[in-house]
Amino acid sequence: MSRVVGSIAPHGGQLVNRVLRGSLREAALERAQAFPNVQLTRMAVSDLEMIAVGVFSPLTGFVTKDEYDSVIDDMRLPNGLPWSIPVTLPVDDHTAAGLKEGQEIALVDGEHLMGIMTIAEKYPADKEREARQVYRTTEEAHPGVARLYRQGNWLLGGEIFMLNGPKDVEFPELRHEPAQTRRMFASRGWRRIVAFQTRNPIHRAHEYIQKTALEIVDGLFLHPLVGETKGDDIPADVRIQSYQAILRDYYPADRVLLGVFPAAMRYAGPREAIFHAIARKNYGCTHFIVGRDHAGVGNYYGTYDAHNIFDEFAPGEIGITPLFFDYTFFCKKCGAVVSAKTCPHSKEDWVYLSGTQVREMLERGEMLPEEFTRPEVSKVLRDGIQARRQTE
Ligand SMILES: [Zn+2]
Repeated sequence: MSRVVGSIAPHGGQLVNRVLRGSLREAALERAQAFPNVQLTRMAVSDLEMIAVGVFSPLTGFVTKDEYDSVIDDMRLPNGLPWSIPVTLPVDDHTAAGLKEGQEIALVDGEHLMGIMTIAEKYPADKEREARQVYRTTEEAHPGVARLYRQGNWLLGGEIFMLNGPKDVEFPELRHEPAQTRRMFASRGWRRIVAFQTRNPIHRAHEYIQKTALEIVDGLFLHPLVGETKGDDIPADVRIQSYQAILRDYYPADRVLLGVFPAAMRYAGPREAIFHAIARKNYGCTHFIVGRDHAGVGNYYGTYDAHNIFDEFAPGEIGITPLFFDYTFFCKKCGAVVSAKTCPHSKEDWVYLSGTQVREMLERGEMLPEEFTRPEVSKVLRDGIQARRQTE
C-alpha cells in the first residue's frame, strides 16, 4: 500500500486499494474462470468499484452479518468506527442455495467479469429492519425502500478484489479516484477542501452556498453524483454540461475541481449525508456541505434531520467537518441570494422553483428566471432536455 497523500487521513486510517493489477490480476482472471458467477445488481456494480478504489475505506468487501447488524442498529462498524449504510451484496434464493461459505465466486455484470470474492458469510437480509433503521420508513413508495424490497433475500459478505472496472463508464475523464484527488489537491497546494455533493444543476442558490464555503477553504471539489438515480432527475450528461458552463464563466479555474461521484443514490436522507461525508473524506476533502434535506426524497425526512444526525457522533469521529446550509434563494427585497437564516422577508419576495417546476419549464422549452438560474445554465439545460425529448 503506497503512502497516502493529503491533509486528512482516510476513514479508519488507510486508503483501501482492492484493485488487482499486473500478474496478480492475470492469475485471478485465470482462476475466476472456474468460479461460479454471481450477477451484481446495478447498485452492487457501483459499490464494488467504490470499495475497490477506497471510496468506502475502511470497507474491504461487502458487509458480513456482524457488520450489517452493527451498521443498521448503531451506525457503527463492530470496531466502533462510524458507518451509516450497510454496503451489501444481495442474491436471490436460487443463487444463494447453490453457494456456500468459504467458496470463491466471480462477480459479474452480465458477461462482464468485475471481481472475485471469497464468501465469508451467507445470511438472510432483514429487509424490514434495514428499511426502518436506514431509510426511517418501511413504505414501498420510498425509492430506496422499493429497491431494497426488490432485491434478493440473501446477502453475501466477504472481502473482494476488483479485476475490471465497470463497463461503459460515463465521463471517464472526470472519474478521479481518491488516490488521484488527494494528489490533485496536494499539487494545487490546497490544504482545506470543501466537497459539494449534488444530483441537480447548479442554480444560483447552490452557487451562493459553494462560494460562501469557498471563502473559508482553499478549494472546492464539485462532486456531482452520476450513479443510478431516479428517472425524473435531470440526465447526468446534461447536468455535466451545465456544470462546465457555469464553472467556465463564473468560478476561478484554480480554485475548483470537477469530478463525478459514481455512487448509486440511495435516498436515505440523514444516513446518506453521513455516508456521503465519509466518502468525501476518503477523497481527501476536509469539509463537506450538507444542505437542507440532503439526499432526501418526498417528505420522508425532516428539514434539518440531515444536519442533526451529525450530532449523534462525538466531534472528530466523522473527521471531515460538515458545513450546514439552510434553504437558500434569491430575495427580491434583499436583491441577493440569501437564506432563511439571513433574510427577514417573506415567501412572496423569494424566487424559488421546485425540481418539478424546473423540469416542466425546461420541457416546455422555457428559460428559467435569471434570479433562479444563470442564463448560461438555463440554456444548456433547456437545449439538453429538448434534444432528449426528440430522441425519446
Ligand atoms: Zn430578503
